[in-house]
Amino acid sequence: MSETAAGPAIRRLDDWSAADLADLADEYGTPLYVTDLDRVRENAARLLDAFPDADVRYAVKAHTGRAVLEAVRDAGLGAECASAGEVVRALDAGYDAVQYTAVNPPAADLDVVLDRWRAGADLTVVAGARDTIDRLRDRGYDGRLAVRVNPGVGAGHHEKVTTGGHAKFGVPYDRAPELLAGARADFDVVGIHAHAGSGISGDQLDAHRELVARMGDLAREVGDLAFVDVGGGFGVPYHEDEPPLDPDAVADATREALGDVDAELAVEPGRYLVADAGVLLTRVNTVKPVDGGGTDGTVPVVAGVDAGMTTLLRPAMYDAYHAIRNLTAERPERPVTVAGPVCETADLFCEGRTMPTPRRGDLLAIGNAGAYGYEMASTYNSRPRPAEAVREGDEVRLARERETIAGVTDLEVGR
Ligand SMILES: *Cc1c(COP(=O)(O)O)cnc(C)c1O
Repeated sequence: MSETAAGPAIRRLDDWSAADLADLADEYGTPLYVTDLDRVRENAARLLDAFPDADVRYAVKAHTGRAVLEAVRDAGLGAECASAGEVVRALDAGYDAVQYTAVNPPAADLDVVLDRWRAGADLTVVAGARDTIDRLRDRGYDGRLAVRVNPGVGAGHHEKVTTGGHAKFGVPYDRAPELLAGARADFDVVGIHAHAGSGISGDQLDAHRELVARMGDLAREVGDLAFVDVGGGFGVPYHEDEPPLDPDAVADATREALGDVDAELAVEPGRYLVADAGVLLTRVNTVKPVDGGGTDGTVPVVAGVDAGMTTLLRPAMYDAYHAIRNLTAERPERPVTVAGPVCETADLFCEGRTMPTPRRGDLLAIGNAGAYGYEMASTYNSRPRPAEAVREGDEVRLARERETIAGVTDLEVGR
């Protein structure tokens, strides 16, 4: 592995410069996402080093910001898209090869994607149901087609991100050969695809191996394929004491489990490329003691901050852990609950976590916010979505403006 291009295996929240982040918060305000494009490039290089003979596709839904799309494209990855919007954004960002993995695709999505295909886009469609194949045929599509298979095994750190075994995703494993054979008359059948969910880690490699082995068996059974896509889900350590994933170990396990197939291996990680390239900056606006707590004399506090579940949804949706660091001061520690401004009990970034006693005005950084951060932001509670700054070398620029309150009501008719 070339250490220079691929960088360290993980960038921890402590590795970010507090002074630099504080400058950014002063310049652009909070809440603010900060994305380091150099780190995105390092992550891409590490993956390409581990999978030199595979087709590596970026699952763009982890972060579809234009600057990130371009950085990943420049690194030489293709794009894996989950919607028409993602296909359009990937093509606009200059990706040559775009894979569209349609999950129960709305008609409008198919229409938009196939318009782009007719206009010459180099597209592969991955269908997860016979119905979807029929709808593609009805629309005159006869291009590259892959079939998403439900491998019956799933990996994932939370039940909501385990997709491999759920009937929503893919066609039943046993029906795949017949479906593929039937599709060959009308399409250029190029591949089989599976995605188990998110959270492949060192100790969950067994589930990944099982999925890949099943895909290898299927590839040998059906034959005549250009690729076997075994999905994404490469984990990142959200906890400070978790070891980073070793992509070489994942690559070795993958090749070994796949066995001999006359088709290219494809992987499509999302999170791995962007998670540790992003932090969320948020400022403390309210500090209050928690009644009745504190046996050792330290009173736990709730720190209200200006980011919430509408800014970074993962803690509320997945019970996800994110590291939190006080960038303003080192102070004696106590149990702190960091809470957002949204009127929902789930609107918490952590509960009773030991950290420096916060004060109003402190700047906090939330780590590993580069994946599924801005993407899942919403305007619930009429809260405008945050701004995003990107860093590249010594340069920093605004990548997305902060939404305004007027922007939130922009689409209202007859106002
Ligand atoms: C979300 C998704 C991915 C990427 O998952 P990560 O956990 O971000 O790596 C890959 N493939 C498909 C089909 C997905 O839906």
